[in-house]
Amino acid sequence: MPFSIKKIHDLIQLLFPMACYGCALPLMNGESEICNTCLESLPFTDHHLHQENLVAKQFWGRIPLNAAMAMLFFKRGNATRQLIHHLKYGNHPELGLKLGILLGERLLSAPQYQAIDFLIPVPLHLKRAAQRGYNQSDYIARGISQVLEVPLSNRHLFRKSATDSQTRKGRFLRFENMATAFELQNAEELENTHILLIDDVLTTGATMEACALTLLQAMPEKISIAALAFVK
Ligand SMILES: [Zn+2]
Repeated sequence: MPFSIKKIHDLIQLLFPMACYGCALPLMNGESEICNTCLESLPFTDHHLHQENLVAKQFWGRIPLNAAMAMLFFKRGNATRQLIHHLKYGNHPELGLKLGILLGERLLSAPQYQAIDFLIPVPLHLKRAAQRGYNQSDYIARGISQVLEVPLSNRHLFRKSATDSQTRKGRFLRFENMATAFELQNAEELENTHILLIDDVLTTGATMEACALTLLQAMPEKISIAALAFVK
């Protein structure tokens, strides 16, 4: 067969180098990073509309938060997983920006996410940042910053040192390790402010909890959190 589907697909990729990060089909006019079909079928949580959502409940009794949400459900095999994979391992920081804009558009209509003073992305291990070349949460925060018109800060929260790979550790060790992983600088600027802490994927919440605990030392008025995706 002279024209297999594979060959046609390759030809399309050649003619339209911008492909959707969800389905790999070429993007049409006016679309960027994610096609409209994928956008419409993404598993949005609508957490921003409900203060007592699954993510907020995950933090009850652990840390006082003004509000907590994740934009998408993350499941094995779903489109969210595909997007996060491209964002974290595919060298596509522009996808973080796009997803951050989508997240920001949701926060814009949520009363509990108003009057934010600083957006603070969860800092990446220095080693990983060097490997990846960028912090994906930083790009998500840049997208949110564009929509909410709130400044992004990389001058307050830092990782102390690279922690070992956590994949082989148990839950308890992971929490213990995380609790001392972050430190503050220029803390006085955060006093009485509303901070929005931003991460890519929420699983146990240990990283967010450790970051929020560290930020609390600066006596902010409120801490809210937002993540791109949530593993149920
Ligand atoms: Zn698509």
